[in-house]
Amino acid sequence: MAATLSRLSVDSVEVLFPFAEILEPQRMVIMSTVRACLQGKHVLLESPTGTGKTMALLCAALAAQRHFALTTGCAPRVIFCTRTHQQVKQVVKEARRSPYRPWLQIVGSREQGLCTEPSVLQAARDDDTKSSQVCRGARRLAERPRSSVIGADGRAPPAAGADGSPVCNQWTSLADPSVVTDLGDLGRRLGACPYFLSRAALPNAELVICPYNYVLEPSIASTTGLLEDSCIVIIDEGHNLEDTCCEAGSAYISSSALTEIENRIDQALIYLNDFHSEEEGVDSQTILVLRDSVRRLKQLCLDTLHAFLEANEGQLHEDRISCKTWNSTLESPPTIADFLTRSGLPESFAGAVKALQETLQQRGQGGAPRLAGLASQVMKALGELESLANTLVLCRERPTQYKIHLEAVRDLRSSSQLDPISSQGFPIRSSQGLPFRSSQGRSVNSQSVNTQGRSVGSSQGWSVELSILLVHPEAVFQSLATAAHCVVIASGTLAPTASFAAELGSAFAERLLCPPVEAPNVIDSSQLGVAFVGTSRRGIELRCVRDRLQQDDFLCELGRTVLEIVAAIPGGVLVFLPSRPTLEAAVQEWRKPGSNRSPSLWDRLASHKGLLAIEGGGPDAAQALARHEAASSREGGAVLFCVYRGRSSEGMSLSDDAVRGVVCVGIPLPPLKPAVRLKRDYNDAVAALSVSGGRRGLDGDSWCHLGAHRAVNQALGRAVRHRHDYGAIVLVDARWTVQGSLRAVKYLPLWLRQLMGLASSARGEHLACPVGQLIGQLKRHFDSRRAQHQAATTSALAADTATATAPQTASASTATAETTTSTATAPQTSLASESASMATGAATAHTAPEEFSEDVSQASEVQYASSRRVRSRV
Ligand code: SF4
Repeated sequence: MAATLSRLSVDSVEVLFPFAEILEPQRMVIMSTVRACLQGKHVLLESPTGTGKTMALLCAALAAQRHFALTTGCAPRVIFCTRTHQQVKQVVKEARRSPYRPWLQIVGSREQGLCTEPSVLQAARDDDTKSSQVCRGARRLAERPRSSVIGADGRAPPAAGADGSPVCNQWTSLADPSVVTDLGDLGRRLGACPYFLSRAALPNAELVICPYNYVLEPSIASTTGLLEDSCIVIIDEGHNLEDTCCEAGSAYISSSALTEIENRIDQALIYLNDFHSEEEGVDSQTILVLRDSVRRLKQLCLDTLHAFLEANEGQLHEDRISCKTWNSTLESPPTIADFLTRSGLPESFAGAVKALQETLQQRGQGGAPRLAGLASQVMKALGELESLANTLVLCRERPTQYKIHLEAVRDLRSSSQLDPISSQGFPIRSSQGLPFRSSQGRSVNSQSVNTQGRSVGSSQGWSVELSILLVHPEAVFQSLATAAHCVVIASGTLAPTASFAAELGSAFAERLLCPPVEAPNVIDSSQLGVAFVGTSRRGIELRCVRDRLQQDDFLCELGRTVLEIVAAIPGGVLVFLPSRPTLEAAVQEWRKPGSNRSPSLWDRLASHKGLLAIEGGGPDAAQALARHEAASSREGGAVLFCVYRGRSSEGMSLSDDAVRGVVCVGIPLPPLKPAVRLKRDYNDAVAALSVSGGRRGLDGDSWCHLGAHRAVNQALGRAVRHRHDYGAIVLVDARWTVQGSLRAVKYLPLWLRQLMGLASSARGEHLACPVGQLIGQLKRHFDSRRAQHQAATTSALAADTATATAPQTASASTATAETTTSTATAPQTSLASESASMATGAATAHTAPEEFSEDVSQASEVQYASSRRVRSRV
């Protein structure tokens, strides 16, 4: 049966869309994306979850790419980035359903199935090291002459190096594959490594799909070379972009890690000539510079710790204490500049790290095999240093956007458990294998030592963690905003877009296509009930701030309210709480038996709902979601207790009965950890400067509140997932309903305010809904929705039956029937006869929905194929 397509013409670019109708939010997304591509501008698109945003983005970008190819003979590559590998798979599915057939390439990691040598992944896990490093060794061993024993499959057996290191059987020189579809399968069929297949295919790819750290993290972006050409970059689920950029531009190291690195470098110096033939000309001077730099950095940390402990003797009750901060150069001293001067780190620091890494990488050919294990340990230590050195380069370039922070950390182990320290201040060489304890990543677990290697007197039992913190995402995002032909950032929760754009820096804001898009939802107000609860049935104010959430009485009152609400919602319910400790404390309290051995709140809730579960992590999380989904459609339903910003607040695709209700408890302001406090102080300082300069930036408090409300908005976006879904949202916190509160007007997304008909004059007291009244409203809402749903299903079935029995003709009515039938599995049309009452604004160049056979799409692709050139190949 012919597939159904629609067409939308935007400024001479014709966009094909694989559904009979282009909904209003999709139309808005398509138009802005095409215009951004044509004009080489960046754009922000807020469109609610479940409105078909991903397909709209893909079709618009690929249509613009084809337009460039046909009109100029040279087209930019499209890079579609999303947050997780799971979401990457969903985008690939969407791309395959689109009318376009680009050369598609996924960029993934070894851990996500692209490395097919389990021994390599296991060795990386066992040794707590990067898989890229183990892979490098495995490839090198694979290039050596193989054993002559060939297995039944004609392949050499999985051999191990002399020291037990894994050898890669998949490693082979790769031809340039023209089409790569399913890399894991293809790699296994070809007997080639899927990871390197994907890298080899990148230059030819017209559509690259990857998690967004592949374009944001400077070290990863430079290895893939993705940004070397001027590309169309789409960042879906971009609401976390600010945090991701700041994390990508930050680095952390502990004093124990610095000690270990210093020792590894010493070893490299001792054995350097063994690693290499004399002709290779090892530059030991560079390595000495590197060792001295590490020593100076460590010494600065320890001296600062020492001074801090002396000044605060007897007053240290915490196990983790802020010791010192060097501010950005926009703030008051001490600043980054002071740190760089005092540490004496040379500008060549990053270059020296790289030089030693390259030297060691070459050791395989001319070096002594017995040193292979040692070299890999040195490489591992250098890997940790590399991230710090690269971050310091950025920090030096942008001292106005960085802070450096030192934390004193109490070592909770007894001295007998600490690793032995030799007279040189380093762990004693063991007779078995390598002499050093393995790095614990960012955790600190060793004694502090001074330059002479002795334990620092009063700092006994303490060590330090050094954080180089990017507090303004611009330092990372600017390279993408400058290199890309255009950047399209889309999410269900971007507003307020002005401050979002400002946070991403001038290179982004100056090229921003205006106005940003804030699309409506595709549902009508009868499908989603929204209520605000500020007091319990007994009149207790439910102000869910941190202090109160630690009180048992308050948690009980909150539990009683949540129980009543949840019991009134049929099917599945998600209950969000502000943090994991709060969630755990609440569940613990709710599980306590009532007075006179009456059932606990938890048991009472369980008697209403079939399954109660708590969101977890790891592989169990997927199973928990599957169990929740299965139980939701059974009698009673299911409740999943989650935390904001957690796995259930995004990236999962539960809909219909699995999520009929979302209960948002509290407003998750971030705990004032050092990174948050420093960012808040930074924003205050910059806001004060911009006020005096005539332009007000986002101050620290506003930044905190905005982040918290984006997390709430992300959670409430779980309530309706497609056009025919329905449900209810209940926001529980007195801060919504207190007299004069403007939160709902200021922070709820525009689509929700429009749906609620919320006037800008609405204040909290107008929104408050007593619990008793809410329970009645929820019952009526769901009764009415279920009745409508059943009527619509009956009507759709009747229409389908009529269509199936009617004789087929070439008339327009047949086309309509085909539309319904052929797209029955598509999320947009599961109930074709239910009317959609969303607003439909005037499309400047919107052709009416029309049916096309797949031939139309194919003809368009053939025409494009004859002229296609991604920019990298021109
Ligand atoms: S070459 Fe490929 S298959 Fe072999 S270890 Fe590296 S990533 Fe894994």
